[in-house]
Amino acid sequence: MSGPVSTDDAPPAASGDTPATCDVEVIAGRAVDVGGFPVRRVLPRRPRRTIGAWCFADHMGPVPMAQAGPGIGPHPHIGLQTVTWLLAGEMLHRDSLGSEQLVRPGQLNLMTAGHGVAHSEEVMSSAGQLHGVQLWVAQPAATRDGPPAFEHHGELPRCQLGRSAATLLVGQFAGLTSTARRDTEHVGVDLELRPGRTTLPLFNRFEYALVVLDGAVSAAGCPLQAGSLGYLGLGRDEVLLEAAAPARALLLGGEPFPEPLLMWWNYVARERGEVVAAHRDWQAGTERFGTVASSLTRIDTAGPPWAG
Ligand code: MN
Repeated sequence: MSGPVSTDDAPPAASGDTPATCDVEVIAGRAVDVGGFPVRRVLPRRPRRTIGAWCFADHMGPVPMAQAGPGIGPHPHIGLQTVTWLLAGEMLHRDSLGSEQLVRPGQLNLMTAGHGVAHSEEVMSSAGQLHGVQLWVAQPAATRDGPPAFEHHGELPRCQLGRSAATLLVGQFAGLTSTARRDTEHVGVDLELRPGRTTLPLFNRFEYALVVLDGAVSAAGCPLQAGSLGYLGLGRDEVLLEAAAPARALLLGGEPFPEPLLMWWNYVARERGEVVAAHRDWQAGTERFGTVASSLTRIDTAGPPWAG
């Protein structure tokens, strides 16, 4: 479930209780309501707007499926990829390309918006818990105005790191390569951490962040709680993680994104005019965003404040 981005996502507040000796920037998630569903937004947050091309991360749940509501009705995207990753539960993806794909824990749904796409994310079952993360990846100039696409990966590369396990969503990590589409140099890794120490190999040309999804993890000696993001920065060949109990985290990284982004509602752009044009096309119901075969209500909002 991806929610709209507002100026509240980057408030001019201090960023938490980072110990003075800690060289990891700890950013607490912000509680956000996405269509009646509570999430913790860890990206974008000032001062950290992007991690490589990763530009949005909502940590949702865990909540009982019965409280997760019907999901998020059809809404548009441009200029980004949506990455849906679940730790528990299931969701049904439908999009204007005609895709209809259930996603379960350990599987990846990856939608590329390019010039424009619409999708819904639907809760189909009331059993069990829903717990996961919705991420966006900004597309580079070369592909952001290109055609939309959708991929489902039922199996992903996995490896052991000592007693801990890693699943590679996208990019390269620990000698593994994911076949998931990637338009920039970035990586996403799910970590199932066992108590004790786990060393993660890193590329020193990438910046990285660790998003803790369950439990507590110390990264390079800095404590991180579930729902927070620890920015590791650039120039590391590895990072040492320590957990006192089983924990779950997501490693996000990539080459720093070379251009400033303009993010408003469900659009990732560069210029205000692109957002205004996209939203006009969505509100007019043009072919650009097509139609989604969903029974949920199509989502709309007033135009951007600068549209006049
Ligand atoms: Mn979405």
